[in-house]
Amino acid sequence: MTNPADEHLLRRAIALAAHAVTLGDAPYGSLLAGPDGEILAEAHNTVLSDNDISAHPELKLARWAARELAPDTAARTTLYTSCQPCGMCTGGIVRSGLGRVVYALSTEQLTELNPSGTWPTVEQHGPALFDEARVPIETYYRR
Ligand SMILES: [Zn+2]
Repeated sequence: MTNPADEHLLRRAIALAAHAVTLGDAPYGSLLAGPDGEILAEAHNTVLSDNDISAHPELKLARWAARELAPDTAARTTLYTSCQPCGMCTGGIVRSGLGRVVYALSTEQLTELNPSGTWPTVEQHGPALFDEARVPIETYYRR
C-alpha cells in the first residue's frame, strides 16, 4: 500500500525519469528516502550515456546504499522508482539491505506501454562438475 507521502516521493522519481530523457537517456528515475522521509540520493537511467547495461537507477542506488548506509539505516530506507525494478536491480536491492521499494508503473504496465521492452530468456546449463566446483567454495567458507 502507498500513502500520500509515498506518492509525493514517487512524483519526484517520475520527474527524474522525465529529466533523463532530456539528457538523452531512457525514461527511468529513482530516489532513496531515509527513515524520516528525507531524500538521501537520486539517480536516473544512464545506460546510453554511460554505455553501461547495468546503469539502471535502482541498481545505482542499491550500490550506493550498500556502500554508504549503516545496515540499520538501510533497513529503514525506501527506494522510490518510476517503474518496478527489473530482475537485475531486484537482486541488487535485496543484497543492499534496503527495507522497502515503492514503484509507480508495474512491469506489466511498462510492457503495455513499450511492447519491445520485454527481455529474451537465456539458456542456462547446470549443475555440473560438483566435486571440482565445490573445492574453492568449501576452502573459502571453512577457513
Ligand atoms: Zn533494472
